Amino acid sequence: MHRTLSQPHSAQPSAAPPVEHNPFFDLGLIPELCERVAAIGYTTPTPVQREAIPLILEGHDVIGIAQTGTGKTAAFMLPLIDSLLCSPRQNNRERPRVLVLEPTRELAVQVHEATVSFAQGTKLRSVVIYGGVGQRQQEREIDKGCDILIATPGRLNDLLGQRVVSVASVEFLVLDEADRMLDMGFLPQIKRITAQVPRDRQTLMFSATLSHEIEELERRLTNDPTLVEVGGRRKPAEGVTQQVYSVMRLKKPELLLKLLQGLERDAAVPPLTLIFTRTKHDADRVAHVLDHAGVNVTKLHSDLTQADRTKALANFKSRKFDTLVATDVASRGLDIDDISHVINYEPPMSPDDYVHRVGRTARAEKTGIAITLVSPEEEPLMREIEKRIDTQIPRSTIEGYAPPPPIEMSTAERRRLKGWSRR
Ligand code: AMP
Repeated sequence: MHRTLSQPHSAQPSAAPPVEHNPFFDLGLIPELCERVAAIGYTTPTPVQREAIPLILEGHDVIGIAQTGTGKTAAFMLPLIDSLLCSPRQNNRERPRVLVLEPTRELAVQVHEATVSFAQGTKLRSVVIYGGVGQRQQEREIDKGCDILIATPGRLNDLLGQRVVSVASVEFLVLDEADRMLDMGFLPQIKRITAQVPRDRQTLMFSATLSHEIEELERRLTNDPTLVEVGGRRKPAEGVTQQVYSVMRLKKPELLLKLLQGLERDAAVPPLTLIFTRTKHDADRVAHVLDHAGVNVTKLHSDLTQADRTKALANFKSRKFDTLVATDVASRGLDIDDISHVINYEPPMSPDDYVHRVGRTARAEKTGIAITLVSPEEEPLMREIEKRIDTQIPRSTIEGYAPPPPIEMSTAERRRLKGWSRR
């Protein structure tokens, strides 16, 4: 049974095929949104959309365990927009009815941009707020009134404290990338914010992993939620080809350069490559080395100003630079189409980070290649990752870069080397 709008709105009809043939219509979305989705170019719902959209439309709380790149933004935002359009505002006109919490500024902006696109042609207004920039402009946007507020927890908490914004009219609460928000230490802010959101609400929580802490948060915030789990929790998307190069630590910059040159030479379409490093210092160093060698490279990490981060991202998205060196936090959840290669300069400390990093390529069921450079001392980390993703990745080597094979020694020889032998 399809619902109709209870208030007029002005979505433009498009020249798309009849809405009855649109698979998003079968999920229960109103025709106007189905047409919008078709105009954006989504022809088939992704698995998380197929599972979550009907549940959210029916008013269930949902816990979504979905990897990045699975289409989860549309999975929660489309049914929420649908719900807003179908139920007229009961409360104060100015205040947000949907609150979405995001771990990073980049992700907040990205979800806001997707929301604006989904809601195009309606009267719904989305506002995004995040830290690291002056708050005046954001205050002005809030003052104009909004239906959907997308925020990082730190800035929202500040603005709530100053009574610049209110979440007292929120009917739909979304915690996106909840695991990362906890990793980043946002739990106190999340508790303070959610305490101000009415209990009578629909709550959606998305996370790449279902940890003990996430279950704790779920118990605190949701009401009899339905679990939606897509594609297994631990594995990178099907379309990613994973490779590991064994390399001497000091040879990594040279090997990286060689691999990049090889990609450039062999690719049918020009590659777009995202390189991850564990630290900001390494990101700076790797970007410097590549730049020096003539690679068209930019970088993204949290020590850069917001303006520089925005510029780096825009330049990478527009392919002004075809290589981006980034740390985990800065690039979490980034949705950049057509990243062909992800290169881990070293294996990340946590297997979850590996899955997230690798998830930057092969988004929305495309294909991509993920390469990890592993020195002998990093092998235990890589093996830990392989255990968690339940996949053994064969080691490739390139002559001149590969570590020497381990020396076979007898126990007596090993002892002698360590000075244990009795003379
Ligand atoms: P997300 O996981 O929400 O960050 O989405 C990843 C990418 O998939 C974004 O570029 C979306 O625009 C794209 N996407 C989401 N849903 C679909 C769909 N049903 N068909 C094609 N692309 C999609």
